[in-house]
Amino acid sequence: SKVIEGEMLRKKLHNTILELKGNIRVFCRVRPLLPDDGSSSEGKVIFYPTSMEAHGRGIDLVQSGQRHSFTFDKVFMPDASQEEVFVEISQLVQSALDGYKVCIFAYGQTGSGKTYTMMGKPGLPELKGLIPRSLEQIFQTRQSLEPQGWKYEMQVSMLEIYNETIRDLISTNRSSTDVLRLENSNGGKQYTIKHDANGNTHVSDLTIVDVRSAKEVAFLLNQAANSRSVGKTQMNEQSSRSHFVFTLRISGVNESTEQHVQGVLNLIDLAGSERLSKSGSTGDRLKETQAINKSLSSLSDVIFALAKKEDYVPFRNSKLTYLLQPCLGGDSKTLMFVNISPDSSSAGESLCSLRFAARVNACEIGTPRRQT
Ligand code: ADP
Repeated sequence: SKVIEGEMLRKKLHNTILELKGNIRVFCRVRPLLPDDGSSSEGKVIFYPTSMEAHGRGIDLVQSGQRHSFTFDKVFMPDASQEEVFVEISQLVQSALDGYKVCIFAYGQTGSGKTYTMMGKPGLPELKGLIPRSLEQIFQTRQSLEPQGWKYEMQVSMLEIYNETIRDLISTNRSSTDVLRLENSNGGKQYTIKHDANGNTHVSDLTIVDVRSAKEVAFLLNQAANSRSVGKTQMNEQSSRSHFVFTLRISGVNESTEQHVQGVLNLIDLAGSERLSKSGSTGDRLKETQAINKSLSSLSDVIFALAKKEDYVPFRNSKLTYLLQPCLGGDSKTLMFVNISPDSSSAGESLCSLRFAARVNACEIGTPRRQT
């Protein structure tokens, strides 16, 4: 019975550690200074902290002569390559094949590098972002698991949430005029979100495509990017004003071992987090900004409620959180990138982003480990 007691104690301890650790991690990524930046003489305002302790995890921002220090699970400075960033998330991506529900977000002001991190630079393979790299890895792993009897089915959907309205980014045989038409109306589609008893999300009318290779997904991604950039020129750079949600559903069966897994990988490029003053505050812009603020604050409300293990989690307060409900909390895994511009003219926004991210990061550990 000593052995059993010991085993029980070990399990209890393990569970406590899991509970304390939670499941939200935060990585910070600082983009390089760009030629269009640096209108002011101050130039860069982001630094590595001097203490060795914070190496690779700490970041300092100096604003109006004041230094603010932050620590995250990981900090990528401007010289970090797309490959280096991907290496740090590849394990998490892999867990979707093991049946986990995974969400990876990119949060930050417009121009801070969210799309670069998620998608990369079109046409430049070495600058591919996390989405194409994740898919390549998943399809490679799938191939390597086949000899062990695993058979996987994968489905992709891609959507955009703009002003609390969902827009399908996959279209079969859609011409560019159709795209424009869809910009202005939803083509009569409802895109109602429902969750079934198994924790699966269904969005009515949304296109779901069976995919068999990373190439097929790359084609769809390209199409989605084009569809978004049509919106960009036609509608006030809509792409930076909307959330982009890429979803891969994975269902795997091993007939010889009778194992069954169902995982989901959500990769999300959030709308720019900049505050009202900067983005203008009249008419459509005001409405957009309010919608973005509402959904970003709903997202943080959900994260904080989950971290505090509150009985009521306000998933229904925004389309984004309701859509992702089954993939947030529970035994799902969440990672947030906070993207930062090093430019002095962005210092105020960067500080806001870092503060927000620090609060999210504090959710991970029982006691907040905060700063200024
Ligand atoms: P966001 O999606 O946050 O609006 P982008 O991803 O479009 O921002 O990035 C803004 C600009 O900065 C783009 O020209 C992009 O190519 C560039 N950029 C962002 N991050 C990096 C990086 N790590 N290395 C090089 N260029 C970057």
